[in-house]
Amino acid sequence: MADQTEVPQQAAAAEQAEAAHQGEAAQPARVRDLEVDGLRKRFGGHVAVDGVSFTVPAGTLLGLIGPNGSGKTTTLNLVNGVHRPDAGAVRVGGVDLTGRRPATLVRHGVTRTFQTPHVFHTITALENMLVPVLHHRGGRAAFQDRALELLEFVGLAGHRDTPASELSGGQQKLLEFVRALMTEPAVVLMDEPFAGVHPAVKELMRQRIVEVNARGTSFIIVSHEIPDLTRLCRQVICMSEGRVIAEGPPAEVTADRRVVEAYLGRGAAATGREAGT
Ligand code: ADP
Ligand code: MG
Repeated sequence: MADQTEVPQQAAAAEQAEAAHQGEAAQPARVRDLEVDGLRKRFGGHVAVDGVSFTVPAGTLLGLIGPNGSGKTTTLNLVNGVHRPDAGAVRVGGVDLTGRRPATLVRHGVTRTFQTPHVFHTITALENMLVPVLHHRGGRAAFQDRALELLEFVGLAGHRDTPASELSGGQQKLLEFVRALMTEPAVVLMDEPFAGVHPAVKELMRQRIVEVNARGTSFIIVSHEIPDLTRLCRQVICMSEGRVIAEGPPAEVTADRRVVEAYLGRGAAATGREAGT
């Protein structure tokens, strides 16, 4: 199985690196570069991610675009440890964290949101906020103020005691976003934060991402809709069939012939709209 290809020495080295960083997790976000180097992942006979490399310098807001099925979600899954890569490396602040578990990535400052929000439905918005810090010193009492502040930040303070299942899809995405901020991450990976949400939620999400980024947190924002990222990111990467086919400012990337072909060729944008026209 591809998921058992982790090199033990690599794991041991990362454990040591992790030990050296113990105790840092409760400190405010530190600047950390994220490096992705030659990532590759095969599912059965299909190579979903095929040699993907990029760097996210600390403080960057990077867009990751590409048609459906191009490997964007799998790339995020490889970065935060949902899947182990068959090849390649993930480094955070110079520490090799390849194939480490999501919880370890969180301790090293990398958090994640999902295409379909992964909130806990039966507990309240406030309780959801406290899940990532339950094992931190001081427990919920120490983090309640921060949780309420963050709920307020995305207009959810009035819903603190509402079970997450009763929030709209857009509100669940906002909740998952601010829950990811509870651990004061250096890098936030967001998978399709704008997909299927009301335009007003989209605009609020966009503004809040910009504000958090302005305080030094890096983001990788995945979207299959190029226009969602053109106003948000100064740098975008486009994937197609598991590979990076273009990288640069949004206007350049959307005009790139390979990018236009990747979208039109898949029939994902028969009108050409999604190709940035
Ligand atoms: P995107 O997010 O760009 O739409 P994905 O990364 O989800 O693309 O998928 C890339 C390719 O990998 C697709 O062909 C998809 O069907 C396949 N894939 C993704 N995850 C799995 C999985 N867990 N098992 C098998 N195939 C997968
Ligand atoms: Mg996806």
